[in-house]
Amino acid sequence: PNRRQDRTRYDEAGARARIEARVAADAGWGFANTPDTDPCLPANRRWARDIAGRMVSSTLGVDLAGASLVGDIAALDGVIGTGVAASAGWRAMAAEDRARILHRAGELLEARRGDLLEVMGSECGKTLDQSDPEVSEAIDFAHYYAMLGVRLERVDGARARRCALVAVIPPWNFPLAIPAGGVFAGLASGASVVVKPASAAVRVAALLVETLWDAGVPHEVLQFVRCPDRRVASALVADPRVDRLILTGAYETAASFRALRRDLPILAETSGKNAIIVTPSADLDLAVKDVVASAFGHAGQKCSAASLVVLVGSVATSTRFRGQLLDAVRSLKVGTPEHLDSQMGPIIAAPSGKLLRGLTTLGPGESWLVQPSPLTADSPLALDTNGGNRLWSPGVRDGVRRGSEYHLTEYFGPILGIMTAENLDEAIDIVNETDYGLTSGLHSLDPEELAVWLNRVQAGNLYVNRGITGAVVRRQPFGGWKKSAIGTGAKAGGPNYLHGLVDWSDARVRE
Ligand code: GLU
Repeated sequence: PNRRQDRTRYDEAGARARIEARVAADAGWGFANTPDTDPCLPANRRWARDIAGRMVSSTLGVDLAGASLVGDIAALDGVIGTGVAASAGWRAMAAEDRARILHRAGELLEARRGDLLEVMGSECGKTLDQSDPEVSEAIDFAHYYAMLGVRLERVDGARARRCALVAVIPPWNFPLAIPAGGVFAGLASGASVVVKPASAAVRVAALLVETLWDAGVPHEVLQFVRCPDRRVASALVADPRVDRLILTGAYETAASFRALRRDLPILAETSGKNAIIVTPSADLDLAVKDVVASAFGHAGQKCSAASLVVLVGSVATSTRFRGQLLDAVRSLKVGTPEHLDSQMGPIIAAPSGKLLRGLTTLGPGESWLVQPSPLTADSPLALDTNGGNRLWSPGVRDGVRRGSEYHLTEYFGPILGIMTAENLDEAIDIVNETDYGLTSGLHSLDPEELAVWLNRVQAGNLYVNRGITGAVVRRQPFGGWKKSAIGTGAKAGGPNYLHGLVDWSDARVRE
């Protein structure tokens, strides 16, 4: 029996009406990505019932046969040729018709939420509190970029040259929302798309692509390649028929792709070393909650995660903030995704190299406020494919010194460092000293402090009295500064993103 069909409670007529309303009016529809992510809420309990017990070994019959298994450059050549050839027909469609298909894909993602949560948990270790809002973000990308595609056509007509082929290379840490963002953007702009998922997130990407195909995107227009060989990603980027690269990954990866083809416009979001500053005027209860959520959500495996908290003045010298932080971190429920109330899940693979050092070794002057350690759990999701331990308790290192390795390096795991500053200016200097500039936070109830911070801090996404992860499509377009971005600078989920997929030089010539 087709479990997916059985479990799809899909209101076809209602969806059709919503899609027509969205195509007709390019605003006025709500966002799925609202904060009702508490597993205790009724809607989430429904999904919880659906997925409980199946998380561990679920493949849900995800059909990887639909993917082009590209093991050599010759096969890739065919994939690229197919995509380029198919783009003319896709581009020739009315933008409204393309939008209808993409809105329908958004509706189908909602209908398949339970399946997506299940595979995100079993393949990528995402706990429900993280995977559920990620599905919502993917749905938001569908509707938002569909709308922008129509708007682009209205503003631009057919003057500017569109890309024929967009390559999307997403990471494993947001296995659904990030590939969805790239794929929906490329398709909405009128291009064909080739998506090459991270090897640790192939099944989630397969479900995404299958959903878009089911919504009506032709298989030739959206292709999905699995590349056991790393060189194939480079060959994809290096191919001159690829017009744009949408990439999320480490800065070094993006830089190496840029070096491969200097003429290829890249829309890349890269690494981060993000901090939250807490001043004496802050609401400390709120600050502790937001620091913990930003540092340890998805075990810190987000480019946007808080890796540092900088305590200012009396917050640094008193014991109150540290005491509350200690309690809050110790009370986090660390567990595998099949336990639906887990608040911090596994890391993607047993730590090694820099992350292992970060979890085990202190720098000069540092001490553990909370020492991390590997945890045992009665679940295969606690182990990686080599049997290494994926489940670690969270760590907080105190006394991180300015200019130290921990201050300046991204670790991408469940570790938070505490730094101190005498005043806000010094705290901002500490934050700006890193090479990166992705997200940054301030906890302060003083408008003057806020103004100073806004003027000086160097990061693409700034958050005040809130956590620094979980940017919301359209409300908080997401993108970095300094070494946290490479390329056109358009922010994902923002009004200019599709402009990065258009060659405006032609339009100017014809005007
Ligand atoms: N967009 C995500 C957020 O706002 C972060 C994406 C990433 O880690 O790459 O938290």
